[in-house]
Amino acid sequence: LKAGITIFVTGGAGFIGSNFLNIMVPRYPEIHFVNVDKLTYAANLENLKMIEALPNYTFEQCDLVDAVTVKALFERYQPNCIVHFAAESHVDRSILGPAAFMQTNIIGTFHLLENCRAFWGQNTDVLFHHVSTDEVYGTLTDQGYFTEETRYDPSSPYSASKASSDLLVRAYHRTYGLPIKITNCSNNYGPLQFPEKLIPLMILNALEEKPLPVYGQGTNVRDWLYVADHCEAIWAVMERGRVGETYNIGGNSEKKNIDVVRQICSLIAEETGKDAGDLCRLITHVTDRPGHDFRYAIDATKIKSELGWFPKEDFASGLRKTVRWYIENLDWVDRVRSGAYTEWMQQNYNNR
Ligand code: NAD
Repeated sequence: LKAGITIFVTGGAGFIGSNFLNIMVPRYPEIHFVNVDKLTYAANLENLKMIEALPNYTFEQCDLVDAVTVKALFERYQPNCIVHFAAESHVDRSILGPAAFMQTNIIGTFHLLENCRAFWGQNTDVLFHHVSTDEVYGTLTDQGYFTEETRYDPSSPYSASKASSDLLVRAYHRTYGLPIKITNCSNNYGPLQFPEKLIPLMILNALEEKPLPVYGQGTNVRDWLYVADHCEAIWAVMERGRVGETYNIGGNSEKKNIDVVRQICSLIAEETGKDAGDLCRLITHVTDRPGHDFRYAIDATKIKSELGWFPKEDFASGLRKTVRWYIENLDWVDRVRSGAYTEWMQQNYNNR
């Protein structure tokens, strides 16, 4: 990642992409970052207001499904590196309407790969970094961890579409020699996450004293990673990871969903003076998600031992920071919740 290169950051207006740009654009003024984003409901350019005026940052609105526009961007910027965040990312939405997931996650990735192949040829001084999820591995019982060798066994249309994109990326390496790296990460949380995902949804509902909908008994287990730690891990792999390799990224922070929600209730009680017991009584158990994976847990030994990456934020302090961020940014929440998002939530979640 030398001075003077251009990096395409796809999906840079979404949750993880915008956190990534907010960290990397000021840190690396000699690298040109081009944020390539369609601006779906999940995107918000306001997330990037700290960096939008910096000379090494450019935004390009582009739907990766539109091959003509993707090619034009490659022609205009001649990128040396792609870090591919753009995706439809919400499992519940993929169950209700999988088509957009197939288009963006599979066809969109294919269009990027095709342009890399065409523009880069046999150049090895370039990189396609694919950002993916641990959900491609399916589910675990009480024991064991996902390693880079775990067989793919996705359960939802979302994870199947991400698994497909991972396989395409790997095939372009084996068939065409494209320099690629893949990271598969556990659940992220932190500032700027769209309020349909578990942690911000619970924080905001608890603040508004609305029901806290928990799937089934809430015993499903997720491994949580603070978003800034994920961004640093991606950068470490981009810089120092081996070409053609996959690295799992996780937070060593396995929690039952119900315990996460209870912890959020206590933190909000501490921050606002509300009663924690009253907040916990808002927990409502709703019909479980079909195909709901029981447990995800990551073995991140490879990235730790090869690259010396470790998560810096523990769950308790990261969650407190996140709760505070939402309390301090309720105007941001109001704006992202307006319009299309509210309509969708009312149509699809009115049983909650
Ligand atoms: P997000 O939904 O917040 O953001 C996705 C971004 O992609 C949005 O800005 C959206 O406008 C853009 N996008 C969607 N379709 C597009 C298209 N056709 N063309 C161009 N841009 C498009 O997602 P996120 O949570 O930031 O996740 C980013 C990536 O990280 C995804 O690939 C996801 O699979 C992966 N990931 C997420 C998590 C997590 O916990 N959020 C964990 C592991 C991996």
